[in-house]
Amino acid sequence: MNEIKESCGLFGIFGDPQAVEKTYFGLHSLQHRGQESAGIATSDGESIQCYTGMGTVSRVFRSGSGILEKLRNPIAIGHVRYSTSGASKAANSQPLLAEFSRGQVAVAHNGNLINATLLRDEYEAYGSIFKSTSDTEIIIHLLAKPTHISKPDHTAHVLNHLQGAYCLLFLFADGIEAARDPYGFRPLCIGQTENGSYVVASESCAFDTIKAKLIREVEPGEIVRLDKNGLSSRFFVEPGTVTPAHCIFEHIYFAKQNSRFFGENVHEFRKKLGRQLAIEHPTDADVVIPVPDSGTSAAIGYAEQSKIPFDMGMVRSHYIGRTFISPEQKSRELQVKLKLAIVKEVVAGKRVVVVDDSIVRGTTTRGKIRTLREAGAEEIHMRVSCPPLRFPCFYGVDFPTKEELLANDRNLEQIKDFLEVDSIGYLSLEGMLGCAALAADHYCNACWTGKYPIPVDATPRKYDLERYQMNMFDETDT
Ligand code: SF4
Repeated sequence: MNEIKESCGLFGIFGDPQAVEKTYFGLHSLQHRGQESAGIATSDGESIQCYTGMGTVSRVFRSGSGILEKLRNPIAIGHVRYSTSGASKAANSQPLLAEFSRGQVAVAHNGNLINATLLRDEYEAYGSIFKSTSDTEIIIHLLAKPTHISKPDHTAHVLNHLQGAYCLLFLFADGIEAARDPYGFRPLCIGQTENGSYVVASESCAFDTIKAKLIREVEPGEIVRLDKNGLSSRFFVEPGTVTPAHCIFEHIYFAKQNSRFFGENVHEFRKKLGRQLAIEHPTDADVVIPVPDSGTSAAIGYAEQSKIPFDMGMVRSHYIGRTFISPEQKSRELQVKLKLAIVKEVVAGKRVVVVDDSIVRGTTTRGKIRTLREAGAEEIHMRVSCPPLRFPCFYGVDFPTKEELLANDRNLEQIKDFLEVDSIGYLSLEGMLGCAALAADHYCNACWTGKYPIPVDATPRKYDLERYQMNMFDETDT
């Protein structure tokens, strides 16, 4: 499944002579969380430099460009973006840098603010001017408001105006503040390098690359400050007053297998899902194959539990971009064929169990099934390591509309027919939550149940803040 996208990845480090290089490598490790734009902001303790651009980390900070050298400072934050609020364009790339009466600040955000449109309308009514269309810019305006600046805990006061999912990094000239919303939707981890510098990142996989070790997660409702005094913590929401709603989809699909958050390792969790899936939906078959990459761990678990041999029947190409495909070639089936190759020797004449982490619209999955049939698979039994997706996400994941979701208005028999498979089995909600390390009520499951932890009255959409046609652009806009 690669039809829905995570919103962003964050990385920050304080007091390290190689802060900018480590941020660069940290962002590389988080590249799966966003490839539309990347940026790094650094501080020498007095002023902030920032560079952002469209594309992947290696494109924006291309070798030989000298950009990293110009950013060389001991305090740094970085961001990779996939747009879930506001278009994919240069003005929306992060960190967002601004100056206000207290000095400079650079802000990097992972998540979605569900009250962004409301807040922006309020500020615009009083004459505020916005230069981007992302929900993150409203945070800058909240920070700059004089009545907010005068509060004893300025950052905490601002955060209490936000609703929705957010992990935030604020880079001030003298330190970094890392904050996580009271529900803890998205992960945010704290680590420490070998030389003692503190780091924060959306996922702990970013620590492995720079030889840092995971210490703990930023707690929901917590602000962690990194400065010359080390690490300090405070809460902007009384701990224990809000039941967490961690996005379990992070563990099912988005996160890297070597990451650890929400109390457990991602790969181990996905294997547990696969084992539970085999218990709930056994079948007679010759081989278990994953839809790579995110279905792989669950397929291993399914094979272990069912004692059916595991094999790689599909091979994913990591080198296919979309740009060279001409419009008339843009059929999903062609895209599937370009991205996934079938290993005929593994599937021909076999009864095949195909394990995927989730199914969104179903058209991509059906394309994969057809290519398996063409390669000679005799029977195809589809197994999915989460329940049927029926509702969109408003907390930082770019979902299709409810109507576009395969399971929106189809029962299992209709889904089986649509996908052209011999059988279909989805993991139950209870089975999925039973595999998780934390209590079942500590996870958001709204995309399966429609029970949104934060009520969503008007359904905010990705382009709500795109009120006018883009009239300024540069070569990096896509
Ligand atoms: S609705 Fe789904 S994808 Fe969105 S936060 Fe909740 S569990 Fe995650």
